[in-house]
Amino acid sequence: MLKCDDLSAAYGDIVALRGITISVAPGEAVALIGANGAGKTTLLRAISGLMPLRKGSVQFNGGAIDRLSPEKRVRTGIAHVPEGRRIFPGLTVRENLEVGAAARRASRTEINADFEHVFALFPRLKERQKQLGWSLSGGEQQMLAIGRALMSRPRLLLLDEPSLGLAPRLAEEVYASIANINEGGLTVVLVEQNTVLALQVAQRAYVLENGQIILSDRADRLRDHPRVRDAYLGK
Ligand code: ATP
Repeated sequence: MLKCDDLSAAYGDIVALRGITISVAPGEAVALIGANGAGKTTLLRAISGLMPLRKGSVQFNGGAIDRLSPEKRVRTGIAHVPEGRRIFPGLTVRENLEVGAAARRASRTEINADFEHVFALFPRLKERQKQLGWSLSGGEQQMLAIGRALMSRPRLLLLDEPSLGLAPRLAEEVYASIANINEGGLTVVLVEQNTVLALQVAQRAYVLENGQIILSDRADRLRDHPRVRDAYLGK
């Protein structure tokens, strides 16, 4: 479904990605793990078109998407939930979700069905439909950000640090929802500092260091890999 081939990208003189090659099959959940500054966020931004490439190509469903704007990539089925959630604080929960649906031309009936789908996944959002975005807890804001992305009916969901800033119980709740979404058939690529959580939900992972992939394997094997245990799992 997704193929990144030999990607390189830089912020001025700071090279953030060096020769990254990854692929993701339909229905998979794949994690990108690594320390601060490893390049995980930049890689997600390169996939969704927010970061220009110096080299390499991105293919989605067999077609090159390098030249497509971020908006067009959303239309082809890529939804990106950025780090820090970025919901609209002055809009209600329902209005925030409606914004997600604006990315595609959908009938009212389709949009209502999508509301029901999101509310079934996140019953708390249903209860808080009329509440303003800013008044939600951190975990609820993360659910709303994911729900908003789902309203664009993506085929590939990119999630940047969904557990960031959440208490452990809430982080687990958000991850249980991500597992549900993936089990429902949606392909997921997630960036996560919380390696334990990421390797519970993802079937495979890539480990980034200094803008390069240093390891990639099935999640269960990476959990036992000495380098991953020492650097990211606290043994
Ligand atoms: P984190 O988990 O801390 O977000 P990350 O693995 O997602 O880390 P990136 O945010 O992709 O890493 O950063 C990769 C490199 O690019 C780092 O060296 C970082 O300092 C640099 N970088 C990121 N954003 C910018 C920017 N806007 N301008 C300059 N350098 C940047």
